[in-house]
Amino acid sequence: MDTIHAKKIKVRGVVQGVGFRPLVYQMALRNHLNGHVFNTSGDVTIILEGAEKDIEAFINQLKASPPPQARIESIELEEQPVEGFQQFQIRESIILENEYQLISPDIATCRLCIEDIFNPSDRRYCYPFTNCTNCGPRFTIMEDMPYDRRNTAMGKFNMCPQCRAEYDNPNDRRFHAQPDACPVCGPSLQLVDPSGNIVPGDAPLSLSADLLRQGKILAIKGLGGFLLACDATDDSAVALLRQRKRRRSKPFAIMTASLDEIEIYCHISESERNLLVSSQAPIVLLRRRARSSSLSPLIAPNTIYLGVMLPYTPLHHLLLKQIGRPLVMTSGNISEEPIAAENGEALQRLSGIADYFLMHNRDICSRYDDSVIMAVNNRMQMVRRARGFAPYPIRLGYDSAGVLACGAEVKNSFCMTRGRHAFLSQHIGDLENLETLEHLKDTISLYKKIFHIEPEIIAYDMHPDYLSTGYALDLIRSAGLNGVPVQHHHAHIASCMADNGVTGPVIGVAFDGTGYGEDGAIWGGEFLLADYSGFKRLAHFEYVSMPGGKAAIERPYRMALSYLFRIFGEEAFNLALPFLKGIDRGEMALIKQQIERKINTPYTSSCGRLFDAVSALLNIIKESDYEGQAAVEMESIADEAIDITYPFELMEKDGIRIVSFDNMFRAMTSDIMFETPASFIAGRFHATIADVILTICRELVRETDISTVALSGGVFQNRMLLEKTVKRLESENMTVLIHCNVPANDGGIALGQAVIANSKYLL
Ligand code: ZN
Ligand code: ZN
Ligand code: FE
Repeated sequence: MDTIHAKKIKVRGVVQGVGFRPLVYQMALRNHLNGHVFNTSGDVTIILEGAEKDIEAFINQLKASPPPQARIESIELEEQPVEGFQQFQIRESIILENEYQLISPDIATCRLCIEDIFNPSDRRYCYPFTNCTNCGPRFTIMEDMPYDRRNTAMGKFNMCPQCRAEYDNPNDRRFHAQPDACPVCGPSLQLVDPSGNIVPGDAPLSLSADLLRQGKILAIKGLGGFLLACDATDDSAVALLRQRKRRRSKPFAIMTASLDEIEIYCHISESERNLLVSSQAPIVLLRRRARSSSLSPLIAPNTIYLGVMLPYTPLHHLLLKQIGRPLVMTSGNISEEPIAAENGEALQRLSGIADYFLMHNRDICSRYDDSVIMAVNNRMQMVRRARGFAPYPIRLGYDSAGVLACGAEVKNSFCMTRGRHAFLSQHIGDLENLETLEHLKDTISLYKKIFHIEPEIIAYDMHPDYLSTGYALDLIRSAGLNGVPVQHHHAHIASCMADNGVTGPVIGVAFDGTGYGEDGAIWGGEFLLADYSGFKRLAHFEYVSMPGGKAAIERPYRMALSYLFRIFGEEAFNLALPFLKGIDRGEMALIKQQIERKINTPYTSSCGRLFDAVSALLNIIKESDYEGQAAVEMESIADEAIDITYPFELMEKDGIRIVSFDNMFRAMTSDIMFETPASFIAGRFHATIADVILTICRELVRETDISTVALSGGVFQNRMLLEKTVKRLESENMTVLIHCNVPANDGGIALGQAVIANSKYLL
């Protein structure tokens, strides 16, 4: 007989709501161990008694094959006195004051549940709310911690005896699956018209499929809000959706029934395939095949990329199968408002858009958009971070202070830190209306509650007019908290460093559209020497006028004229350039006046505005309908193979390097006059920017002896630019940091603000 030993094991990470305890139970039985397992508000605790070799085997098995959706962060072992347990049990949860748990994001429907809903003899056949411990809603049904059914949106549904039996059986796939439900006891679907009247019929799903096939627009309640859907092969349905949603050209995403179907429309690399079929099931930006498709061209006009996702709830699987063609799936909102989540709210806000509403009676506790990802050099790069990822934290290498970082303005998200975790929120939206600000406040309250964080330090963007800044200043004043203003581009670089687990210092290249500079100008073409504690501006693009301020962002030709006017003076307006023909003479005179008299005309070093100017000069775009459109459409026509560059100059002013693009614009102008193809000029422009980065970084590396370069800011969502830049920098042995888990755009800013604020208070 072996001697009996006892051990206590504490497992931290995402270990609740993912089938952890049943797995532990089965492993204990397999290894002839007694004791028990229970959740606390900080970890999963396991007490084991048995032979030493059996305990060891148990630990090895746990490390080697945890439940598929668990993410183990640490396993702590402790000796225990032997108590002589006679069996292994799953015990009640214990609430520990002031402890916190990581929370699982929502998980796409697993293979076994898909089998259930398509199996005519299963009791969940065609049931759109099927889930198990390996899949289904998590974060979006959570009202409070611990993650028990009564603290979720499922609390109001009483389990039927059959579901109860599954829920209580440690050998069942649905053991303690909090959202467990069936057609007898769980949520149900309803199809209603915009007045809220129920459409008669006992099969709302088939009815919906019929309506979609007829070209109708449906608002479909999903995990984190309503999505607007229409037949992706029907031009007039897509056109109608664009018109009603007031979205002229910003690309829509589509959902298809299978990978094979995506292959018809897009090229898929190995890493893209893995992302598509992952349990996060995000929208993946894929390169579209040249024509050959039945998809409406109105889905993503003038871009080579198409956002595609696979079904991620049973409802989607059933609907896509019935309808037999791809669907446009886009957030249920008008332009940039938050996604509609409640039934009544959806009816009110989306009644002018949707012809019908496919809704259900399971409440949504937090708005949660679809995540968007692309693969660059076979590595994932987050574009919009929400479903499947938030609120999973970014790990910090130190114990943090209680910080709330409020983010920027467009693509806002916030970040709270506690322990070694930075909880970057899901995508909140553009803070340009009060609805989005309310959404921000609600979500902050939720995170404070579920992670037990009471922030003492508030970080915010230096821009005085951002709603997020106003909100931060109110908090600081009313609660007497410490405030840390953070420069926008410093935050971008710090975000990229934290995303890569690097503390610096680094040479940071921050290229974006707009960020408030320390001198009051609009920055956006910046080279910084940075670490978390501070930064020094070492180089930037030359300041140019932005005639009309916001008008120059909406109408990129204003930026083109700004560059031409500084080079050619009055003559600029009479050059033989096709793009000038589309501009009203009166507006030209106004632009000239605005630049000369500096009326509503700030200075900017923005790289985004430079892309706007070139795109307009090439007559690719006249007015911009969404952020980055000018650059997106230019990248789509640019010839990637072109590697020659345009001339540019480096100057120096007060010890700071300044990049001037005047000679580039001269050369480009003559290229256009000689009718050089736009694809060639655009390709050459991309190569030029990559060369500018290389040239400056080479000099800065020599001077500072720092050879790590961090690339951040929305401009680096341009794949052609990013790939050309990384290739050049790496060829000269620089270490290049690019984003992965956190968006390069302003959606990642809050993480940077949070680590900067932490460094200020932890020193
Ligand atoms: Zn499942
Ligand atoms: Zn049931
Ligand atoms: Fe930015």
